[in-house]
Amino acid sequence: MSRSGYPPWVVLHIPHDSTFIPDQVRPQFLLSEQDLALELQRMTDHFTHALFAEPSGEATVIRAPVSRLVVDVERFADDAMEPMAARGMGAVYQVTSQLAPLRRLLQPEEREALMREWYRPHHERLEWSVASAVDRHGRCLVIDCHSFPGTALPYEDADPFGARPDICIGTDPFHTSDALGQAFIAAFGCDSWRVTVNEPFAGALVPASRYRKDPRVAAVMVEVKRDLYLDRSNFCPDRHFDLIATEVKRRCVEAISAWQG
Ligand SMILES: [Zn+2]
Repeated sequence: MSRSGYPPWVVLHIPHDSTFIPDQVRPQFLLSEQDLALELQRMTDHFTHALFAEPSGEATVIRAPVSRLVVDVERFADDAMEPMAARGMGAVYQVTSQLAPLRRLLQPEEREALMREWYRPHHERLEWSVASAVDRHGRCLVIDCHSFPGTALPYEDADPFGARPDICIGTDPFHTSDALGQAFIAAFGCDSWRVTVNEPFAGALVPASRYRKDPRVAAVMVEVKRDLYLDRSNFCPDRHFDLIATEVKRRCVEAISAWQG
């Protein structure tokens, strides 16, 4: 079997690269067109699909169909379980990255409609693809694929002048074995990239039905600093994009291969 790409039991979870806001959701937002465009620029994990996914590979790609401003599929559905909900950024954001009001107050049924339309179908696809990998291959690795801005946004509650790594690897105490975590740290840390673990972003997403229950489901998060590939002036891919996209995929595949021995 070829080792040049992802194995077929890999699921690439891409929660934040969409900028799509459905027409029926737009009136909820309190921002002007210009401010909404700016917020999308700040909050979108631009081009993470192109960074992580092979054009025709064996991994399953589960990509959120709407912007995280519509619903954030990376957050727990239940605000009581979601730490960011206290900051107004649970699955349905109330505030912007600047901690300013983002949307009008929703009725419970309006929040439920967003969850029904966009959140739950995404998680059903994720659950199904993980179940399918476990059924067919006895295992699954979910790679949670993100990027982050070179300067911390106010909502992060981080030091805005703090140095940011090039790559942040997120781990889960149950789903990320030491060997898996180390393989990703080593693959991304060689050459000149600076890698941190669970800082500034922590954890790795696993479908709810397997969370801290099923050891056949492994998970790791990879966060790429946007300054490596994105032009800060227009949020378009810069001249390094193709090289970085090739490297991100290559290093993920190399990490998986090293983890497997
Ligand atoms: Zn993200």
